Amino acid sequence: MPLLCSICKDKRALLKRPKTGTPVCKDCFYWAFECEIHHTIQTANLFKRGEKVAIGASGGKDSTVLAYVLKTLNERYDYGLNLFLLSIDEGITGYRDDSLETVKRNQQQYDLPLKVLSYQDLYGWSMDAIVKQIGRKNNCTFCGVFRRQALDRGAMSLGVDKIATGHNADDVAETIIMNILRGDIARLQRCTAIITGDDPSGIPRVKPFKYTYEKEIVAYAYFKKLDYFSTECIYAPNAYRGHARAYLKDLEAIRSSTIIDIIHSGEMMSVKEGVKMPVQTKCKKCGYISSNEFCKACVLLEGLNKGLPRLGVGKTSKVNQQLKQVNDSKSCECQNKSTKCCLNNVPKTAPSSCPNRSKNCENGDAKFDSPSVKDNQMDKTTKICLTNSEIL
Ligand code: SF4
Ligand code: ZN
Ligand code: ZN
Repeated sequence: MPLLCSICKDKRALLKRPKTGTPVCKDCFYWAFECEIHHTIQTANLFKRGEKVAIGASGGKDSTVLAYVLKTLNERYDYGLNLFLLSIDEGITGYRDDSLETVKRNQQQYDLPLKVLSYQDLYGWSMDAIVKQIGRKNNCTFCGVFRRQALDRGAMSLGVDKIATGHNADDVAETIIMNILRGDIARLQRCTAIITGDDPSGIPRVKPFKYTYEKEIVAYAYFKKLDYFSTECIYAPNAYRGHARAYLKDLEAIRSSTIIDIIHSGEMMSVKEGVKMPVQTKCKKCGYISSNEFCKACVLLEGLNKGLPRLGVGKTSKVNQQLKQVNDSKSCECQNKSTKCCLNNVPKTAPSSCPNRSKNCENGDAKFDSPSVKDNQMDKTTKICLTNSEIL
């Protein structure tokens, strides 16, 4: 006898919900999935009637399902939202060009306006050119920092009120683990928020999938036959996030509620009074919000444009010091330019009295902190397959 759906008790169950472990039929799964997202949107007051909302669209499963579900809920519950697709073209041949084709098809399928912004137009550098310059290290650091700003710039040019991103529960739990491991209190406090950047200077970002399991997004896309792109980026996969992900999967195998438990624990954490937190100000160069004199994107760009690609990779306080040194280095008197110190463009042979010689340099080789990989919205491929135990 076939297993019946635990909700309607009528139709045959087609999958076990990864979130609850209960057997459900296809229609009840769709209904429960959409209702939970609607509930998240309502409870957290993510949107107001009449708002223009840009959906960060990469062509991947998360943003494709987000666009589909937001459009469905907007019509079903009459949210009164004006929805747009906003895509960033990082300039990654063989990856982003293909995924953008998916977004263009989604635009037709969902009948939503689309805006595409490229790194090349915004920064004068494509990711392909950046990787050519910096090599296959720290690629995601550059890409993540530039994407965050690009999304904001795109949203501003569209005049939107909010940006909706496809960050799901697994992403949030991974970010909490990463921030705990790094001891990054400021980000740890921010990363569980369902609305971020809602200070007067920024466009708020919302995460309607904050409590939605990645496996359920995959199942929804699979059963609905949504058109999405699932190839992995050709550049460095985010190794640090990969470790956090693997750790979470191991925990999940022992305790199925791990993801939601970690999110709830993260939400309960609070920073002790008196702990010094970074103060948000504006970048002196581009005016973008920053907790330092210059925003990370400007520092990274400065490094690229000056042929010092490692400038900006590392802790921001040190990075600002480095940037100041680079800008001051014009007054260097040293003549021997044949062997340069990698940080300051100063010859290795420069006398130790040379004001431009970096304190970080020993024999011309700068020491760097391990790269701080930005919490970025990356296309993870749909490796998380729905196992036999979940598809009935
Ligand atoms: Fe950019 Fe993501 Fe590729 Fe890293 S993995 S380079 S963040 S698209
Ligand atoms: Zn049912
Ligand atoms: Zn800047």
